[in-house]
Amino acid sequence: MSLIVQKFGGTSVGSVERIEQVAEKVAKFRRQGHDVVVVVSAMSGETNRLIELAHQVQERPVPREMDVLISTGEQVTTALLSMALDKRGVKARSYTGGQVRILTDDAHTKARIREIDDQRLHASLAEGYVLVVAGFQGVDEHGNITTLGRGGSDTTAVALAAALKADECQIYTDVDGVYTTDPRVVDGARRLDRITFEEMLEMASMGSKVLQIRAVEFAGKYQVPLRVLHSFQDGPGTLITLEDTQQMETPTIAGIAFNRDEAKLTVEGVPDMPGIAYHILGPIGDANIEVDVIVQNISHDKTTDFTFTVGRNDLPRAREVLQQVAQEINAREVTADSRIAKVSVVGVGMRSHAGVASQMFQALAEVGINIQMITTSEIKISVIIEEKFLELAVRALHSSFGLDREPMDESAA
Ligand code: ASP
Ligand code: MG
Repeated sequence: MSLIVQKFGGTSVGSVERIEQVAEKVAKFRRQGHDVVVVVSAMSGETNRLIELAHQVQERPVPREMDVLISTGEQVTTALLSMALDKRGVKARSYTGGQVRILTDDAHTKARIREIDDQRLHASLAEGYVLVVAGFQGVDEHGNITTLGRGGSDTTAVALAAALKADECQIYTDVDGVYTTDPRVVDGARRLDRITFEEMLEMASMGSKVLQIRAVEFAGKYQVPLRVLHSFQDGPGTLITLEDTQQMETPTIAGIAFNRDEAKLTVEGVPDMPGIAYHILGPIGDANIEVDVIVQNISHDKTTDFTFTVGRNDLPRAREVLQQVAQEINAREVTADSRIAKVSVVGVGMRSHAGVASQMFQALAEVGINIQMITTSEIKISVIIEEKFLELAVRALHSSFGLDREPMDESAA
């Protein structure tokens, strides 16, 4: 017997029929003798509907009241699911975030969890109840309702699993796991049986949007085994966990991630001297613009080019800031290009395998793709390329790193 936290997202509880199906699933686990804590999202579309209502009343809604409003969606689901469980003879109780006492800071609409009172939950579990907890919400120290940011129910689930020392946190959603890359881009994309927290963070931050990034960070920090599963199809899903150092042969690459949301800025003809990078990126940081890939060339005539990428939405503002900076430092000009994409190969196996970068560059060369920028970390190599070549690049890399095929023999490992 184990303690499992199960989280069901908006589409999984999008109608009464689906809530009944979820209840069936939860009841099955319960009958197997497991302790179950269920975390639910609002029914699909509900949070958006509530946000729209708010904007009809006030252009910039008061954050405190916004939280009172948008936290209601989850509460509806907890009650309906508890009823559906009760109907099946399963003892169940619904809880709001405040009732559990999921204590957060007071940053309305983007609060962070500080502490969870696990006493009441343990007591209720000991009485044989399935606990149905509203995701996405908490209370601050004055009892004001707070919410955790869009997609925050994932974080609620992981935080509860950590607080209760659950054996597993299962995230039920509309895909059956984490894939080697986006199956819409590569037909041969394959569901991964397991992936490490680190790899998942690199994959998630670049477009494989199965889980809220914050939830993965949280799970990694507290070492909560996390499993992504399909709500209505049976299957093992993908386990997100610590690196298995016992495993004989770790695949070098777990997957190919990509991102079309960046734009590139270049300050051309920058005098090459100490303090220049700071002079350029300081004002960008002050404007709250996040910088991703940075490249500065070696100068041959005492001037150089300084190139970096920002989120596409930030491009107009970044450009404005740079124009000012360029004048101050006597740079020649500022150019921008939003038709770029970032493609990354991700894998902890890279640490112990040489030649991953050259294999990546070879695969891109073979299909005639020009690399504009390169950046590496311990478990990731990313390149910036022209956006129109993105899908070609992802396919080439997916097959070059052997991700299309089934692994040799997993049972032997
Ligand atoms: N209902 C919230 C949202 O749509 C939280 C969640 O579903 O995770 O963002
Ligand atoms: Mg979600």
